[in-house]
Amino acid sequence: MQTEISNFNFYNPTEIVFGKNRIPELDRLVPKNKKVLILYGGGSVVRFGTLDKVKEALPNRTIGEFGGIEANPTYETLMKAVELVKAENYEFLLAVGGGSVIDGTKFIAAGAIFDGDPIDIFGAGIGKGLPVTKSLPFGTVLTLPATGSEMNNGAVVTFVEKKAKLSFGSPFSFPKFSILEPELTYTLPTRQLANGVIDSFVHIMEQYLTYPVGGMVQDRFSEGLLQTLIEIGPKVIDEKNHDYNLRANFMWTATNALNRILAPGVPQDWASHSLGHEITALYHIDHARTLAIVLPSLMEIRQHEKREKLIQYAERVWHITDATEDEKIQLAISKTRAFFEQLGAPTHFKEYDLGEEVVEPLVAQLEKHQLTAISERRDQTLEISRRIYLNAL
Ligand code: NAP
Ligand code: FE
Repeated sequence: MQTEISNFNFYNPTEIVFGKNRIPELDRLVPKNKKVLILYGGGSVVRFGTLDKVKEALPNRTIGEFGGIEANPTYETLMKAVELVKAENYEFLLAVGGGSVIDGTKFIAAGAIFDGDPIDIFGAGIGKGLPVTKSLPFGTVLTLPATGSEMNNGAVVTFVEKKAKLSFGSPFSFPKFSILEPELTYTLPTRQLANGVIDSFVHIMEQYLTYPVGGMVQDRFSEGLLQTLIEIGPKVIDEKNHDYNLRANFMWTATNALNRILAPGVPQDWASHSLGHEITALYHIDHARTLAIVLPSLMEIRQHEKREKLIQYAERVWHITDATEDEKIQLAISKTRAFFEQLGAPTHFKEYDLGEEVVEPLVAQLEKHQLTAISERRDQTLEISRRIYLNAL
């Protein structure tokens, strides 16, 4: 087991363009001599005028559009865009939307110039899991703070028939730039705002709640971001509260939660995302809401392995001091659960009218996707995952 901070390289080339009225800078950011394809989702950017603003900012260019990338983007839809990019020779992609559109664009950018069948970008029994060695350049205009996809090189794609949600990542899949205008979040409904708070909270936890290796900087960055979300989360989810700084802090927290600044040299445990993805694949519950079910249960089941960090989390994030170590752990877990519930996300399957019948299909999915030895110690077996699902009923 790792006992010290391990060697690391940290590389993040994405230019962040943050603040009010930054979309006009697309004229500088998007190459003038390239054919550009704008990608978006189910229409929110059309309804709320963002697409028009984006197009206005890109005069004198050859521009095409591809809309209809769904939440939890599907391979089938994304392959239609891949074919369009190839047929029309688009050279630069611009994602306008949330994590789904950005993730989808990462796949399209890689898939359009992949040597071979793009399905092989994915592993886990679906494709050959071949590395992505090149990608078309792309930028993003973020409309939903949650995933950190705007400043990282990972993407998640859904395979509907195969009931799978699989990710890929590559050094070529960082956006060239991302425009972050906090005011674009003013049109988000409460549910999406809450999803964003929860998804980013869990991203931080998965890079933090491991065995300790003495990464003081990484730990304190994480604790600062977690405390920020706890402080602003309940206010952020009020869709009518258009306090600029509130939304600005939320947006920047969500980006930092998964731009890898928290992870260099320290262990990570992405088990909550692994277990959560299977819930979305089988029962179509929003990504963040699956995490609200899994994480508190995982903290309970794995409290012995994560004891030291749980105590640190209790003391530094929740300021629980006047209690025994065991009490601190229990209080920290119950406060985490209460935080998700306060944001409107249930933490048990039963609140989705799901019962014991879900457990074995979910475990079978994990097995099928070769997720049989997960967590930072690779010691989360299928049996432990089963207990985590059961404990969340
Ligand atoms: P999303 O799926 O991109 O968007 C959710 C919904 O919000 C969509 O219906 C969208 O509508 C709407 N929406 C977006 N911006 C809006 C705005 N400004 N105003 C009103 N409505 C708006 O949500 P997400 O949470 O950002 O992304 C989730 C996906 O990212 C999942 O597939 C998840 O697995 C993945 N993910 C990726 C990473 C990563 O590192 N790459 C990390 C975590 C999760 P329209 O479709 O109409 O625009
Ligand atoms: Fe996530």
